Amino acid sequence: MTANHKWLLLTLVLGTVLMLSAPLGALAQGAGEGCCWWNDRVFYEIFVRSFKDSDGDGIGDLQGLIQQLDYLNDDDDRTKPDLAITGLWLMPVTEAASYHGYDTLDYRQIEQDYGSLDDFRQLIDAAHQRGIAVLIDLVINHSSDQHPWFVASAQGNPEYDDWYVWADQDPGYRGPDGQVVWHERGGRYYYGVFWGGMPDLNYANPAVSEEMIDVARFWLDEVGADGFRIDAVKHLIEDGREQENTPATLDWIETYQDALHEFAPDSLLVGEVWSTSYASADYVGNGIDLVFEFDLATGMLHAARQRNADGVRSLQNRALDLYPPGQYATFLTNHDQTRVMTELRENVDAARVAASALLTGPGVPFIYYGEEIGMTGTKRPGDYLIRTPMQWDATPATAGFTTGEPWHLVNVDLAEVNVALQQDDPDSLLSHYRTLIQLRNEHAALQRGAYIPIDTGSRRVYAFLRQNADETLLVLINFDDDPVVDYGLTLEAGSVSADTAITTLFGTDSPLAAPAIDANGQFSAYQPLPELAPYSTLILQVGS
Ligand code: CA
Repeated sequence: MTANHKWLLLTLVLGTVLMLSAPLGALAQGAGEGCCWWNDRVFYEIFVRSFKDSDGDGIGDLQGLIQQLDYLNDDDDRTKPDLAITGLWLMPVTEAASYHGYDTLDYRQIEQDYGSLDDFRQLIDAAHQRGIAVLIDLVINHSSDQHPWFVASAQGNPEYDDWYVWADQDPGYRGPDGQVVWHERGGRYYYGVFWGGMPDLNYANPAVSEEMIDVARFWLDEVGADGFRIDAVKHLIEDGREQENTPATLDWIETYQDALHEFAPDSLLVGEVWSTSYASADYVGNGIDLVFEFDLATGMLHAARQRNADGVRSLQNRALDLYPPGQYATFLTNHDQTRVMTELRENVDAARVAASALLTGPGVPFIYYGEEIGMTGTKRPGDYLIRTPMQWDATPATAGFTTGEPWHLVNVDLAEVNVALQQDDPDSLLSHYRTLIQLRNEHAALQRGAYIPIDTGSRRVYAFLRQNADETLLVLINFDDDPVVDYGLTLEAGSVSADTAITTLFGTDSPLAAPAIDANGQFSAYQPLPELAPYSTLILQVGS
């Protein structure tokens, strides 16, 4: 029995116990997966500089983002459909030295290019009114080398000397990726895992930890953010040559979260631990609420690109073994990676099935801005091409992002790839994202339900149940660019009700065959449709 099956058994037993004793609301929560408010959310990652410019200076800003909130979620079912996302992750909004914001100059100041703290408070209020939670990037592993703390530290100011990691002689060893990590300044050497412009802060010094608790208090308690995406968590504390995922880092983040819970008990900490599932899972429940599942992201992309579901199936099972139910963040690609659509060689149908896997699976989904319209971009030094301005319409050179000159060239495909073109087209990628996000919002089984894998008898077809006490949903994704007829669904763990009514929630107008349910509540060699269309997604309700 795998840990996965143990969870399942526990879930079913717990569900049965609760069914006898608890009202329905409590039952749905107890029998499904997920502990917390974030398990009901779909997040959207935004690079503010590139999302929408409000004042014509060519730089995206907070007022621009506020203007576009209706696109993300207008909280009104009577108007034309919006993306229906319920969470935002903003890449750094604090004053920084570089365009991307990951080298902080002031941890309490809004980036001047983006607006003011008043603008940010206005954004939080407007987002909350629409039911959107707001996370901001907290870049605490390192600051800019131009940060006043580092300047003082480098000058030997005794108050700040120990805020960074210094050595009198060059220790000489390299970083985890073979990079130079010891940098010379004034005859001494400081540690900076990414580069010399980003010196690592010294969390062996309690004064630095205290300061960062205070920074968190400012954003969570005073300003009203709902949590943080914590950058580069695995690099927080080094132990000599051991520079990733050290026990000291795990201890520190747990203590840090305890301190934050004192004033913000419901705050969400999402960790960027760019490692294997095995390393990242250690953080969950120990200082971090959710970690980004990088392995599973690769698995979903590979499935869509290689038309083979084997990888995503096994990586999903591994995630279920490693994490508490639902406590990982899922995504396809982020601001550090070649965009989904480029990975998929601009095959819109492949992008559709990748999105299906993301938005129907367990965990908490995150979408990178522009992914929903199929924006392209290849990772190159500087990462500019994966962070280009959002393509709102077909206006030459600006794509509706600004009335001025964009801070960076808009992608040349703007005439073919933009929101305006896809907004009212029911077959567009944007409509696919929108419909699936709305389905997820409406069906708690997709948000928190148990995930039960189904054997499909085909490497091309991925299938699973999402199940809570109220409903059982069957998801089928055909990753192949051809129709698939040689498949059969076999449920080997878990069970469904004997009521075999099958209802389509998404994906077909054709009549569906019902499964034959055996005495164990399971089925085998079941074909809801004799033929699965190329790159198709079906979401079916099992039982009435
Ligand atoms: Ca602007």
